[in-house]
Amino acid sequence: MNKEILKNIKVLYVEDENDVREFTGKTIKAIVKEIIVAENGKVGLEKFQENPDIDLIVTDINMPKMGGLEMCAEIKTINPEIPIVITSAHNDPNFLKKAIDVGVSAYAMKPIDLYQLIESMIKAVEPIFLRKQLEAVNLSLEEKVEEGIQKIKSILDAQDNIVFVSNTKTITNVNKKFLEFFKISSLNTFLNENQCVSTLFKNEKGFFSLETLKKSDKNWIEYLQNLSEVDRVVKIKNNNGIDRVFTVNIDQYEHKGEYFVISLTDITELKEKSNLLEYQASHDLLTGLYNRQKFHDIFGKEIRRDKRYDNDLSLILFDIDHFKNFNDEFGHNLGDEVLKFIAEIVTKNVREHDTIVRWGGEEFLILLPETDLKGALKVAEKIRVAIEEFRDDTLPKNITASFGVTTLYEGDNEEQFVKKADIALYKAKSEGRNKVVSHTA
Ligand code: GH3
Ligand code: MG
Ligand code: MG
Repeated sequence: MNKEILKNIKVLYVEDENDVREFTGKTIKAIVKEIIVAENGKVGLEKFQENPDIDLIVTDINMPKMGGLEMCAEIKTINPEIPIVITSAHNDPNFLKKAIDVGVSAYAMKPIDLYQLIESMIKAVEPIFLRKQLEAVNLSLEEKVEEGIQKIKSILDAQDNIVFVSNTKTITNVNKKFLEFFKISSLNTFLNENQCVSTLFKNEKGFFSLETLKKSDKNWIEYLQNLSEVDRVVKIKNNNGIDRVFTVNIDQYEHKGEYFVISLTDITELKEKSNLLEYQASHDLLTGLYNRQKFHDIFGKEIRRDKRYDNDLSLILFDIDHFKNFNDEFGHNLGDEVLKFIAEIVTKNVREHDTIVRWGGEEFLILLPETDLKGALKVAEKIRVAIEEFRDDTLPKNITASFGVTTLYEGDNEEQFVKKADIALYKAKSEGRNKVVSHTA
């Protein structure tokens, strides 16, 4: 007999005979969680209304004001499932039929045999408790686990993005798109070859990868969560060997903290397009050098840096000599080739953080950070010679250029700075071309 079950229940005990009520009440009290006692059906009903969490009713039948069966019928309209044990001296078929109609679960004969009463109480309560327990188990096992998984899966599968559930190390769930992307039949196939998706992020400039983490004490999920959307960009090779670019979105899963729903949105085409637009906006398309707009941006940055660190900043402006004649003589197409040659020559002769700009038609500008006038003059001379000495089978005639060099003085704005170089260039032209001239004041 499972007496344990009674320890968790709240009982309403109704009995009109004082002695019986007191004695039996004490016994019941000792084996249940809580007992509420009433002296007739009317009081019993009121007490039940006040305590709807009562688990079991133990009641006498014949009582003044309201009998036990009448009371039970009322209570059953409030809670049809409440188990009832009746105690009675009656044993006639009529009473039993009534009791069954009311839905009495068990009964104990009077004079009360305590052992039998307890057994009846357990018998009455057990099915309901078993069912409740089962429901609880069903809820946690089936609904929470199986249905939960199915629900997550169907939600994940409906996504256009690659979605997976993961903590920092392992993946627990993936959607169809994920399997398709890696051309695999199951998550296990993936896990056999890879620890986590993060190991597949390519280490490339402008993209997040585990390499990025080396300077941080955060794990990859924490790190990505703190980045703005434009920086949460990764590159992953799919199983056709093609690189795709994704933005990563991370949501905490069910507030557990350890698991996250991670979605990868493919922005490859978008990224290519924006890269192209960005390139077009900042570059000269014939030579691949920067354009004026880019110079403007870089100059802004350099001048702030220059002010902060008191660094030198110098400028070379040069222009191809008699280029109009060249075009007239050999054609515009060959002229274009010359411009490309010049771009290559200059690129080879400056440092990496110098900025080369196609300033105008056949005019070029080089911005040289951390370079004083003397240094800039040297660079200009080197380029002048390199152009003069440049030979190519397609080139029918040697090219020369004239150079104006200047350095930034405190208070110079962009226009004044370029103007000084222009003055120097003009001087170089007027002094016979193929020359380097400086102007600073
Ligand atoms: P100077 O030595 O005084 O600089 O003489 P120049 O003929 O080089 O100067 P001018 O300013 O009179 O002529 C510039 C010429 O540059 C005119 C044009 O034919 C040529 N040019 C400008 N942009 C391009 C281009 O994109 N392609 C080609 N092929 N030629 C260009
Ligand atoms: Mg010119
Ligand atoms: Mg010219």
